[in-house]
Amino acid sequence: HSKNQGRNAYHFFTEDMNAGVQRRLQIEEQMHSALGRNEFSLRYQPVLDLKNNRIAGAEALLRWHNPVLGNISPEEFIPIAEQTGLIVPIGYFVLEQSLKAARKWSTTYSNEFTIAVNLSPLQFKDPKLIVKIKELLASHRLEGNALSLEITEGVLLGNQIKVQEAFQELSDSGIQISMDDFGTGYSSLNYLREYKFQTLKIDRSFMQDFALDKSAPALINATIAMAHALDVEVIAEGVEEQEQLDYLIRKGCNFAQGYLLSKPLTEQDFEAFLND
Ligand code: C2E
Ligand code: MG
Ligand code: MG
Ligand code: MG
Repeated sequence: HSKNQGRNAYHFFTEDMNAGVQRRLQIEEQMHSALGRNEFSLRYQPVLDLKNNRIAGAEALLRWHNPVLGNISPEEFIPIAEQTGLIVPIGYFVLEQSLKAARKWSTTYSNEFTIAVNLSPLQFKDPKLIVKIKELLASHRLEGNALSLEITEGVLLGNQIKVQEAFQELSDSGIQISMDDFGTGYSSLNYLREYKFQTLKIDRSFMQDFALDKSAPALINATIAMAHALDVEVIAEGVEEQEQLDYLIRKGCNFAQGYLLSKPLTEQDFEAFLND
């Protein structure tokens, strides 16, 4: 009997594994032609400036709808896009679309509008990245400060000199660099010391723990104070409750982003939101 159970357990396990491997392969296969079939689109999540209660800009967030697989979350497909290298062309699509939208909203809403774009470590390793970003800015008649690049710790691993040079070149063009998911990595503090960031984004997990765990607000408060001491601005991510927003305003946080304000929106809905 026990042998039978064991065999069933084994069987179940391999089937489970196969399902995971199969899905991954399917995603990979579909992704190869997804750009050409126009399956990617962007959503824009408003970023609120807490000092004047105005929309400072938006974060561009990638979406993928595939006819076979349906909607696939970026948490699932971005890692695969990174492993296959497809994140590089997909990333250029994101930059192109984002800057096109930023051009429009700079004209119609505010000439200080900033679009935030997430960059993968692999994109950062592309030697043409900076030149292409500059070309895209120029072709959309945008200044560097219309763009903020959101990077995670992964970008900073490896060739430090090259990364320092890239940061310098980007900031010489006025392009902002933002440390995403702050507080979730291993050495965020060290990186803040070594590299010049304009902003840091407090990871949304701190907001999720806000009411549950006294240390979460304490850490948010300490992060804001530390960032300001280093002349770095702070964006709070994942703000869902008024109580959280009130706390952030009291502590001098610069910007907030989250469902309390708005979910990520289509271009059209974002425009309606701006005009509201
Ligand atoms: P991220 O850059 O940290 O983006 C914030 C994520 O939090 C987004 O998830 C957003 O929809 C979600 N979010 C915003 N407000 C709230 C809130 O109040 N509550 C909760 N629970 N969630 C909130 P999304 O769009 O699923 O993206 C997940 C991650 O995928 C992003 O995390 C980013 O790391 C990556 N990603 C998305 N678009 C791109 C892209 O164009 N390029 C690259 N390289 N990565 C991207
Ligand atoms: Mg981000
Ligand atoms: Mg984040
Ligand atoms: Mg993230």
